[in-house]
This record gives sequence, C-alpha cells and structure tokens, in this order.
Amino acid sequence: MTTLSPPATIAFIGLGMMGRPMASRLAEAGFKLRLYDLSQKAVSDFICAHPMALATASAKAAVQGADAVITMLPDGKIVRQALIEGRDSAREGMAAGMLAIDMSSSNPVDTQKLARDLAALGVALLDAPVSGGVKRAIDGSLSIMVGGNAADLERARPAFAAMGKTITLCGPAGAGHALKALNNYLSAAGLVAMCEALVVGEAFGLDPGTMVDVFNSSTGKSNATEVKGRQFVVPRNFAAGFTTGLMAKDLRTASEVANHLQLNMPGLKQAVAYWADASGKLGGSADHTEIFRYAEMLAEEES
Ligand code: NAD
Repeated sequence: MTTLSPPATIAFIGLGMMGRPMASRLAEAGFKLRLYDLSQKAVSDFICAHPMALATASAKAAVQGADAVITMLPDGKIVRQALIEGRDSAREGMAAGMLAIDMSSSNPVDTQKLARDLAALGVALLDAPVSGGVKRAIDGSLSIMVGGNAADLERARPAFAAMGKTITLCGPAGAGHALKALNNYLSAAGLVAMCEALVVGEAFGLDPGTMVDVFNSSTGKSNATEVKGRQFVVPRNFAAGFTTGLMAKDLRTASEVANHLQLNMPGLKQAVAYWADASGKLGGSADHTEIFRYAEMLAEEES
C-alpha cells in the first residue's frame, strides 16, 4: 500500500463549486490529475488554469492508471453511478489496490454499501466530506471528516493536507458522511434562526448590520452570524457558493440516518420540510443564504 504523495496520479471527478478549488490545491501540491466532469466547460476551464492536468471522457478513462480516485459530486447516488454502476463507470478502469475517496456529502448508509461493494473489487473507500465552503476550499483550510480505515487515511493524508487543515477520523465507513449531514443540520438551523431574527428585528426598526455585530459579540453567535451575516445576507448579494438544493439534500440525509436508527427527531423533520419548501420556491440552484428571502416571504403570510 503506497502513500498518496506527489507526484502520484489522482482521478478527480466533479469540478463544481468545491471540486474545482480542491483539485487546484492538489495540482499546486504536485499531484498529477486526470479529470472528469459531465460538464466539458468545467474541465476545460480547469485545464486553462492548470495545463498539466489531463481531461478524460468518462469516469472509466479518468481512473485508468491512477493511484486514487476522488469524487466531489452532488450526492451519493451520483457517486455510485460514477464509481460502479453507470455506463463507463470507474469500475471498468479501476485496478485492485486503488484508493477511492468520496468527498461529496453522501448518504452514510449508502456509503457503507459502497464500501462493501468496492472492497469486493479490491478497492478501499474513504468517505471524506468537507466543511468550510468555497472560501476555505480555495485557501486549503477545509475541515475533512473521514470515515474508513485508519491505515487508508494515512495513505491519503498528503492529499488531504493539500485541501484541508483539520482532518478527523470519525469512525468506520460512513462515519464521515453521517457527521457531515449532522453538521449541516446545525448549520442550516443556525442560518434560519439568524434570518428569522433579522426579519423580526428589521420590522421592529433595528439595523441588520448592528444586529449581526451584536450577535457576534453575544451568545447568539454562530457560523451563520460570523461567516454569512455581514458577508452575504445583510448586503443581499447571496453569494456563498452553496445551493439551497444541496442544503435540502443534506438535511434529508440527516433525517434518513435518524429514520434508519428509528429515532424520532421533530426539529430535524421541521428543518427538512422548511428547506424542501424553500428549495421549491427559491429554486434548488439559489444560494442557500437566500433562505433569508424565504423567511421574508413567510413573514408576509398570515400567522
Ligand atoms: P456543484 O453542483 O457546484 O458541482 C458538482 C459537479 O459535479 C458539477 O461540475 C457537475 O457537472 C458534476 N457532475 C454532476 N453529475 C456528474 C456525473 N454523473 N459525472 C461527472 N460529473 C458530474 O456542487 P458543489 O457545490 O461543488 O458540491 C459538491 C458536493 O460537495 C456536494 O455533495 C455538496 O453537498 C458538497 N459540499 C458543498 C459545499 C459548498 O459550499 N458548495 C461545501 C461542502 C460540501
């Protein structure tokens, strides 16, 4: 088992808002990259910035000759398609001994099954979802939550170190994905609380910027108040780079985990319904900080 150190070759699948800056960090660290994304533009834009990276036409082609494959795709169902079930999936090009790393926010129960299916092919899987958003993907300071085998994490550590600052082994396969979904429940709940507080405060005549500043020096402080209030919500630019649709998916995932464990979580159920409705009304591609506009819309309805 060789360590994934530069100039090892990594197949990177999914060059969206997060995948692109994460793959950039790997290229800058000296890894050789073989790229695949459904969007040819996503690949060609990346290659303009990193001409040494190689474009490929499928997941199957991307993994050929690679030491590891990283997926940064919308959800675990798409990851499964790309790795083992879809047409021209990675399965057809993967060699035994390869390491697969799913950095998407996927469903942990599906991840446990994927880990078993890949193990049958001689491929170890790490789930390694991230937190920190586009800004921290760009500066390589993501929080990476790892599920899987400790020895496999050590193999992958140099690649993780290029993308993240905090690398935590959370437990066996699926543990990283479970923790990520639960983290996003807290993140989504904090954002809704801040937005509702701002709507009420503004109606009372308070200045929203002053409100955020006071939250940040008081017990109401959260990631929403510190990172999203002054930056994206108060100026109404709604440019955090994470969509409402993906947040709704993460909440569904957290709820599916609770259901799988037969745990009744009424607050979580409410959050799922809130974000599903918001995603329908704002559009799934709306930035998740636009949840403020949704809170404003609801405020106008009869209570
Ligand atoms: P995105 O929609 O910007 O990017 C997804 C990319 O995957 C796109 O380039 C798309 O073309 C590509 N793609 C989709 N289906 C594909 C397929 N079958 N084969 C190949 N490529 C395919 O999403 P994102 O914001 O980069 O998020 C990616 C993952 O990271 C999601 O699971 C998300 O929940 C998670 N995440 C996002 C953020 C954020 O701030 N945006 C933060 C943490 C985690």
